Amino acid sequence: MGTADLHIHSIYSGDATTTVRAILKQAVDVGLDIIAITDHDDMRGSQEAQELAPKYGIEVVPGAEVSTSDGHLVALFVKTLPPYGMSLIDTLLHIGRQGGVAIAPHPFNHLPNSLSMEAVLGALTNPRAKGALKGIETHNMGTQNFDKIAQKLSIYLPLAKIASSDAHIFWAIGAGRTEFPGKTSADLRAALEQNTTVPIPYEEEFSAKAILSWVHRITLRRFGYASDARSASTPINTQPISNSMIKRIRKKRDDA
Ligand SMILES: [Zn+2]
Ligand SMILES: [Zn+2]
Repeated sequence: MGTADLHIHSIYSGDATTTVRAILKQAVDVGLDIIAITDHDDMRGSQEAQELAPKYGIEVVPGAEVSTSDGHLVALFVKTLPPYGMSLIDTLLHIGRQGGVAIAPHPFNHLPNSLSMEAVLGALTNPRAKGALKGIETHNMGTQNFDKIAQKLSIYLPLAKIASSDAHIFWAIGAGRTEFPGKTSADLRAALEQNTTVPIPYEEEFSAKAILSWVHRITLRRFGYASDARSASTPINTQPISNSMIKRIRKKRDDA
């Protein structure tokens, strides 16, 4: 079996605190075979990870977490970023046309940005859109106290069951992972298509520690520090974000 964490945020998400290379190092250290960096409406972290991945000995599936008008949607195996703000159906059509697949992240919990049951059932009964929707997060480390309905309903839905970390801090990476037959991204893709994935949830009680840790790290980020590791063999440290990195992170905002 291979192991994947398909929902991780890098420094290219404004609410996350870990550089791409630190994510790669941590992912290898915790035994993941495949990851997807799924920043909010941004694929630069995913692209950077794909370029660096061979040096770390891990496979990276291209991805992003797209803000649809119905809620968040994790897009995987996509070549280009779907525009944000479209309906779930239109976003699924966009993903499907370019050969990608989608996972409904942290659904059915009435949190802002979560897809509703109506939206997901609507997509699954839409003949053109349903082909792209392949998975549902039954376990999301960040929303684990709100995942019960997704866990119960997923039994009746023709969707692969996924556990993800939704990590915004480096040590959460892999706290929520999905097993699949095989090891490669092609095997993962087949498991998503054939609904043969096994969600492995984060086992500890969700604690104030995770929230406090995130608050601590996001505050450090505001002051220009991020969790970083320069290579697969160096430790993960809180380090000043380099000027070139700041430029890269800011570029999109200036372009927009
Ligand atoms: Zn989300
Ligand atoms: Zn997320």
